[in-house]
Amino acid sequence: MPKDFESSQESYAKEVLREKGLKSTAQRLAVVHVLHTSGKSLSVSEIHQEVKDMLGATGLATIYRTLEMFEDLGIVKRLHFPGGGYGYTFCQGRHVHHMVCVDCKGVFDFPECPVENFDYSSVEKQGFRVKDHFIQLFGQCVKCAEAA
Ligand SMILES: [Zn+2]
Ligand SMILES: [Zn+2]
Ligand SMILES: [Zn+2]
Repeated sequence: MPKDFESSQESYAKEVLREKGLKSTAQRLAVVHVLHTSGKSLSVSEIHQEVKDMLGATGLATIYRTLEMFEDLGIVKRLHFPGGGYGYTFCQGRHVHHMVCVDCKGVFDFPECPVENFDYSSVEKQGFRVKDHFIQLFGQCVKCAEAA
């Protein structure tokens, strides 16, 4: 186990799980660790591989279920790629939007929510009630732009 396995990110996840009456299993904490140390959007199979490297045999279905549960709990966020692929990043319950580098899959926080003060009145006039939003930017990070 890496030394920082009990970092603030794992403590946060443990607390959220505890509040929901869910167990902080080794696999669940390993998923948190893999994501918070990565800085990149990782696919399910990449996360699976890293968890296996840490813990040994772990079922892919367990990783899928863990990620779906973490997404529901706001612990992680699902990020999309052009062409339909997706990956995950650790967001620790924050309301945050991301910029994703399409070359290296690096994930960067958007400085602020771009629709926080958006005027939804024209939307509401159509009888549509906005509950949530998803905004993500695709692009090239500084490093990849320089290397190109
Ligand atoms: Zn960690
Ligand atoms: Zn990049
Ligand atoms: Zn927002």
